[in-house]
Amino acid sequence: MQTSWREALLVEQAERRAAGLWRRRRIVSTPQSVNIAIANEESAKQSRINFSSNDYLGLANHMRLINAAAAASERWGVGSGGSHLVSGHYRPHQALEATLADFVGAEAALLFSSGYMANLALATSFVGKGDLILQDKLNHASLIDGARLSYAQYQRYAHLDLAQVDRLLKSKAHKRCLLMTDSVFSMDGDQAPLLKLERLARAHNALLIVDDAHGFGVLGDNGRGSLNACGVAPQGNVLMMATLGKALGSYGAFVAGDAVFIEHLIQTARTYTYTTALPAMLAVASHEALNLLQEEGQQLQEKLQQNIGYFKSRAETLGLRLMPSNTAIQPWLIGDATAACAAASALANAGLDAVAIRPPTVPKGSARLRIALSAEHSLDNIDTLLAAMQKVSIGKS
Ligand SMILES: *Cc1c(COP(=O)(O)O)cnc(C)c1O
Repeated sequence: MQTSWREALLVEQAERRAAGLWRRRRIVSTPQSVNIAIANEESAKQSRINFSSNDYLGLANHMRLINAAAAASERWGVGSGGSHLVSGHYRPHQALEATLADFVGAEAALLFSSGYMANLALATSFVGKGDLILQDKLNHASLIDGARLSYAQYQRYAHLDLAQVDRLLKSKAHKRCLLMTDSVFSMDGDQAPLLKLERLARAHNALLIVDDAHGFGVLGDNGRGSLNACGVAPQGNVLMMATLGKALGSYGAFVAGDAVFIEHLIQTARTYTYTTALPAMLAVASHEALNLLQEEGQQLQEKLQQNIGYFKSRAETLGLRLMPSNTAIQPWLIGDATAACAAASALANAGLDAVAIRPPTVPKGSARLRIALSAEHSLDNIDTLLAAMQKVSIGKS
């Protein structure tokens, strides 16, 4: 007899729970900030110091962004009412694109409703059948999904293995080649050697696409991003993608590069054409974040770097083994998924929020707590975290 859909799903869900892979939505009852409260985890402290946020500079709940968004919703309403190619492209979008392009040193920029959609656009618009997409094994899921949608041949190379990239680029079995990489790897915090990748791409006439979701706003001159930090411009065969929902504290994403490439995306990208435009009020909020970065970005970045340095050196003194990262993403490798959940619960009981990241987001056996630092954390906050981590690791051994 055939099993019902319901029974089959219940079996699958039971397996998921048993393997420590059950995912639960936590209900946040405060704005995003270094202090948050979780409403639906009764066994743990509700109020917590937040080490689970991509809001690296504390802009998501910044008064300047709040005021800008409020004024913009009065001026432009809430919904955009259509796609960018119909009736949804407003003056704030146009202005933000110009400022973003200027800020990162590109000819042009194009807004997308999210980074996920921008990456789907990038992976599908420039290549197709007979072409090749090369990606780092640890790239973000949106880049991987884009490659799957592209009809191009898709090959992942071992994490940061430039020799393999070189071999694959030389294979010549393809017409065109896209080389796609995260700049800061989202679950590991380590960084791609962008200058070397740019040279390799240039030597083989590949198009290099850099996903700077975790570098934009925090790295480079006043937060211009990872390419800027590495001395590579988003020009010629280099395109950059960055999100506005992480360090910029807002929502949406953009692609920056030469105008011909941007125009090609406008003409062909399905995730640009067939979706409602980002609300203008969010473009205004993002623009305010960008203004703020240009004015005080450097101080915020220095504060963040100080926190990263402090966390790393104290962790080392305490004998806590962190993964190699110099960015705000400081993963604490646990290994087993159930153990990672137990560690996260122990921290939650101590009033600390650091979420367990488990497969399939990370490879099997490499579950971890993804500790994300912010410029807003105090050294006290960090000491509290380290003390709790030490307690957990003593309990383990
Ligand atoms: C978050 C993220 C994205 C997706 O961006 P959204 O705007 O959240 O859709 C893409 N790439 C990386 C590396 C990310 O971390």
